[in-house]
Amino acid sequence: MADRKNILKEIGYFLSLTILFAFFLTCIFFPYNSIIANRYLEFGFYQSILFEIFKIFFPFIQIGIPLVFAGYFTHRTLSILPNINISKTIKNILIAFNFAVIAVGISLSALIALNRNTPPGYPLLLLIGGGLIFIIIAVYSFRFTNKSIRKTIYLIALTIFFLVTILFSFFHNNRSSKNPNILFIVVDTLRSDHTSLEYPELGTTGFLKDTLLPDSVYFRKGYSNSPWTLPSISSMITSRYPSQLGIRNLISKINEADFTITELMREEGYRTGAVISHILLKKSYGISQGFDYFNDRNISGEFGNHIAISSPGVTKDAINFIQAKKDGKFFLFLHYFDPHYIYLDHEKKTGYKGKFRSKDISFLREQIRTDNYSERDTEYLRHCYNSEIRLTDFYIGKVIDQLKRSGIYKNTIIIFTSDHGEEFIERGWLGHSTTLYKEQTGVPIIIKPVNKENLRLRNFENIPVSNIDIVPTLISMAGLKRMPGLSGKDLFSADPDNHFFFSEVSQKEFGSDIELVSVTWKNWKMIKDLKNNHFELYNINEDVEEKTNLIGSVQNISSKLKLKIQKWLKNIRKPGVKEKKRQALSDSEREKLKTLGYLN
Ligand SMILES: [Zn+2]
Repeated sequence: MADRKNILKEIGYFLSLTILFAFFLTCIFFPYNSIIANRYLEFGFYQSILFEIFKIFFPFIQIGIPLVFAGYFTHRTLSILPNINISKTIKNILIAFNFAVIAVGISLSALIALNRNTPPGYPLLLLIGGGLIFIIIAVYSFRFTNKSIRKTIYLIALTIFFLVTILFSFFHNNRSSKNPNILFIVVDTLRSDHTSLEYPELGTTGFLKDTLLPDSVYFRKGYSNSPWTLPSISSMITSRYPSQLGIRNLISKINEADFTITELMREEGYRTGAVISHILLKKSYGISQGFDYFNDRNISGEFGNHIAISSPGVTKDAINFIQAKKDGKFFLFLHYFDPHYIYLDHEKKTGYKGKFRSKDISFLREQIRTDNYSERDTEYLRHCYNSEIRLTDFYIGKVIDQLKRSGIYKNTIIIFTSDHGEEFIERGWLGHSTTLYKEQTGVPIIIKPVNKENLRLRNFENIPVSNIDIVPTLISMAGLKRMPGLSGKDLFSADPDNHFFFSEVSQKEFGSDIELVSVTWKNWKMIKDLKNNHFELYNINEDVEEKTNLIGSVQNISSKLKLKIQKWLKNIRKPGVKEKKRQALSDSEREKLKTLGYLN
C-alpha cells in the first residue's frame, strides 16, 4: 500500500515536472507577437484589455518561469543527491553541471525574450527530442523499487534532456546557415506597362528583362492592394489588407502588434536591413519594425523637390550591406523612389522646350484641370517617367551584380515589385492614389527562386496575383515557419481557378470622398464605389485598359463578385480595427508631401 502511494506520488511528481518543462519551453518560444497580431482583431473589448496586460508581462513571464524552474530543479537535485550511493566527485560534477545548465538556460531564455532571435525549428526539436527521452527514461525508472536507483536514473534522464537540447540547438544552427538570402526590391510608382517586360521597345527595364527574368517567374498580371505608398507597402510586408491594419491616412502607422515579414525573418535568425527613400516609409510609419539596420538617409537633402536622385545612394548603401553580411543570411529590403514625380529627363535628348519641363505636380495638375496642355506635353511626361525607370533599372542591376560578385546570387531569393502604378490622364488625373484601375494598380511582380523546382510558380504567370500574396509565397519558398493570419495566398498551394484578391483606397480622411474596393479573379475585376454603391466590371483579359464596363451584361460573374466584395467588407472592414497614429505631420513633412502630390 505504502509502495503504491509512493509510486503515485512519483508519477505525480514526474508529470508536474514534465508539464512545467513544456510550459517553460512554450513561454520561451511562443511567437506571441504573431498570435497577438493575428487574433487581436477578433477580440472583444475585455479580451483586448487582457491581451494588452498579457503583452506587457510576457517578457517577465519568459524570464520568470525558467527562474522558478531552476530553483525547483536545484532543490530536487540537492535533496536527491545525498541519498544516492555514488562517489563525492561525481556528485560535485552533477551539481556543477546542474548550475551550468541553469545558467545557460536562463541566459538563453533572457536572450530570446529580449531579441526573439530563435533559430528556426528549434523549439519543436527541443520539445519532441528532449521531452520524449526524458519521459521514456523517467517511466523506465519505475521498474526499480529501490528508491535510490530510481532517483539516480531520474537524474540521468534530466541530464540527458539538457544534453539533447544543447545538441539539437547546435545541429540546427549549423543547418540553418544554408537558408537562402532574401532581397526584396520595391520600385515606387512603376506601372507594369511601362517596363520592357511588357514592351521591350521602351528599353526601360533592360536589366530586369535580360538578366533577372531568365532565372525568375514573371507574374504578368500583378496588382498592388492600394494605389498609394503607405497602405500598399504596409499590406505587402504584413500580407494583411490596409483595412485590417487600420492604415487610413498620412498619419496612420503600422501597429506594433501587426507582425511583419521582417520580424519573422529576424526570429528565423536573419540579419534584417532596409534602405528606403520615401518620406512615407520613415521610422515613424512603423515599416521599420523588425529591422536591425534601417537606413533612411536617402530621403534627406533636396528631397522636398525630388530634384535629388536617390537611386545611386540606395544602391551604394545596399552594396555595403551585402558586402558586410554576405557570410551570414540576410533579408534586405530596398526601396527605389526615382520614378515617382517630379519626372526628370536623365537623357535630355527630346529637344522638348514646352511648359511641362521639370515642373512640379501641382502645376501640371492645374494645367490638366484647365485643359491647358497638348499631346506633346503628356508625351514628354511619359518620356521623362520612362527615363526615371531606366535609371532605376540601371542601379538595381548594380545590386544584383554585387550578389554575383559575392558568389551569393544563386542562393538568394529575389522579389521585385512596385507599390502602385501611375495615371497619365487616362481618367483625367496625373499621378496615383485616386482609382483602382490598371494604370494605378498594375505592377510588375517578379520572383527569382533559389531552387529551379520552384519555377512551378509559373502556374500563376498569367493569373492575376497581388502583392499581398508575396509574403506567404516567400515563407513557403524559403522554408520558414508559418506566420498565422495572412490574408494573401501561398502561390505554391493556391488554386489558380479560385484565386481572389482585393484592392482598396479611401481618401475620406484626406478631405476627398473617394472610397473604392475592388476584387480581381481570373479574367475579371469588379470595382465598387462605396459612396454611391456603384459597381463596375471589366474583363481584364480582353479589355486590358479597363474601359468597357460590363456590369449589366455578365450577370453570373457580377453576382458572384458582388457577393465576394460584400463578404470581404463584412469580414475585413470590421468596425473596431483601431488605427494607430504616428505624431502629427510637421510643417516640413507637410510641405514635402504637398510637393509629392499627397496633400492639396
Ligand atoms: Zn509609392
